[in-house]
Amino acid sequence: MPTYPIAGKTVFITGAAGGIGAATARTLHSRGANVVLADRGIDATSALARDLGGDRTLALSVDVTDRAALADAVGRTVDRFGGLDVVFANAGIAADPPATIATIDPAMFERVVEVDLLGVWRTVRAALPHVIAARGHVLVTASVYAYFNGMTNAPYAMSKAGVEQFGRALRAELGIHGASAGVLYPGWVHTPIAGAAFGSNDITTRMREIAFPSLLGKAIAPTRVADAVVRGIENRSARVMVPRRWAPFSALRGVLNPV
Ligand code: NAD
Repeated sequence: MPTYPIAGKTVFITGAAGGIGAATARTLHSRGANVVLADRGIDATSALARDLGGDRTLALSVDVTDRAALADAVGRTVDRFGGLDVVFANAGIAADPPATIATIDPAMFERVVEVDLLGVWRTVRAALPHVIAARGHVLVTASVYAYFNGMTNAPYAMSKAGVEQFGRALRAELGIHGASAGVLYPGWVHTPIAGAAFGSNDITTRMREIAFPSLLGKAIAPTRVADAVVRGIENRSARVMVPRRWAPFSALRGVLNPV
């Protein structure tokens, strides 16, 4: 039996128009949750809300770097559903095109950190009083890149490592209030960002093969991540890893850090 059943809970999802966010919204909705679909554009989230049926969905246009927009979105969530129990802070971008630290456009570097790291903090902060009041749960999306340096997406890796530590700090703090937090670590998932973030070169290909031998070189379907997310919320898990089994990090030594 899950310790924190999801039916009837209100879940605020950022990046809800994307591969992992939309798949998770569908799964949560099918399990009886109210889902708030927050993403940059309203068209995709509105279409998803229509598809799911209107009564337990709310589509909102929110940029996670914008504190005022987040405060407004949280207010509208509470007005609509009477509270906010769970946050899935999942919106993310990668430097596109991937580039080295020496050559990347500085504005691109800083935008990735702004969305992937500060966007998570701003999302969580806006919702936190409600999560605490509800003794709810927060799940933040990190990445395999919290650990591995792919050599072409330093702002992404730097942000995801930060998200991991933020999630740990949050878990410690929320525990005092009877709430909880966890960190999601997707490996390699079949969504648009995967091409941009991981690129496709000898190093990233080797990394996938070595890090995730169970995938046999194939990306995971977002629905599999969604199932893991729901399990992670319902069990208030500290870590949600998809796939569950990764090679020991030592196996990658020499592949990712050739010098
Ligand atoms: P995706 O590109 O399909 O979805 C990302 C979503 O975030 C998009 O809908 C996009 O519009 C939204 N977004 C981007 N910037 C935003 C902003 N400023 N405000 C609001 N929304 C914004 O990719 P995905 O794979 O579904 O990614 C979801 C999360 O999973 C990301 O944090 C990503 O870093 C992480 N992740 C993905 C993989 C993978 O292999 N796909 C691996 C590890 C981690």
